[in-house]
Amino acid sequence: MARRKIVAGNWKMNMTPSEAVKLAEELKPLVASEEVDVVYCVPAIDIIPVVEAVKGTNVAVGAENMYFEEKGAYTGEISAAMLVDAGVKYVIIGHSERRDYFKEDDALLNKKVKKAFEAGLTPILCCGESLELREMGVTMDWIRFQIKSDLVGITADQVKTMVIAYEPIWAIGTGKTATTEQAQEVCKGIRECIAEMYDAATAEAVRIQYGGSVNAGTAADLFSQPDIDGGLVGGASLKAEFGQIVNYK
Ligand code: PEP
Repeated sequence: MARRKIVAGNWKMNMTPSEAVKLAEELKPLVASEEVDVVYCVPAIDIIPVVEAVKGTNVAVGAENMYFEEKGAYTGEISAAMLVDAGVKYVIIGHSERRDYFKEDDALLNKKVKKAFEAGLTPILCCGESLELREMGVTMDWIRFQIKSDLVGITADQVKTMVIAYEPIWAIGTGKTATTEQAQEVCKGIRECIAEMYDAATAEAVRIQYGGSVNAGTAADLFSQPDIDGGLVGGASLKAEFGQIVNYK
């Protein structure tokens, strides 16, 4: 069965609650699609108003982060159960900005992936290499390490439902999109890694996005690659352009 495309916006630390509702209203007619799953991953404080604003549309809401503990003395953190109760369906785990600025390592991310599944959230697990690693020629070794460590203890049935986002760090927020060939090559490599870790059916089912300066001009080429099932979009998800990315065909 063909995999359904999924295009997710990562709003990052942008949009106050009132700005978020305004953006969701503006994007409503532009992101309507029968063929593509659309997700807005929004700041925690925007979740409740955005869930309300997209009610009755094809848009699902995601979180940009969560903590792996059930509840308790973890000041400032948000649990998976809180996200579910607020109407969240997806959660970004392991974005390079969290790995880099907040020192989240693969052992921690593995706990978050487990907790997300346990709570009924769909993880969007990010992986990606720095420019330095790419130039050293170890891109795929690095990505395989990330995928393997982040998915320890995760079952094939769980992996079949999740989303993996390949985001080369050098392409995030830089305006420098990976070439279609570079993006397809790594997404194919990720699928091969999943086939080795699990089986061919799991690799066939898992959805793999490309992320890194995707825009209205690059989306069609990227998303029509055999192993790219949509995109994780930062900057362009805050503009009307996001509608063109969703309706890339
Ligand atoms: C991202 O933050 O996931 C991202 C891909 O950002 P941008 O599209 O702005 O490069």
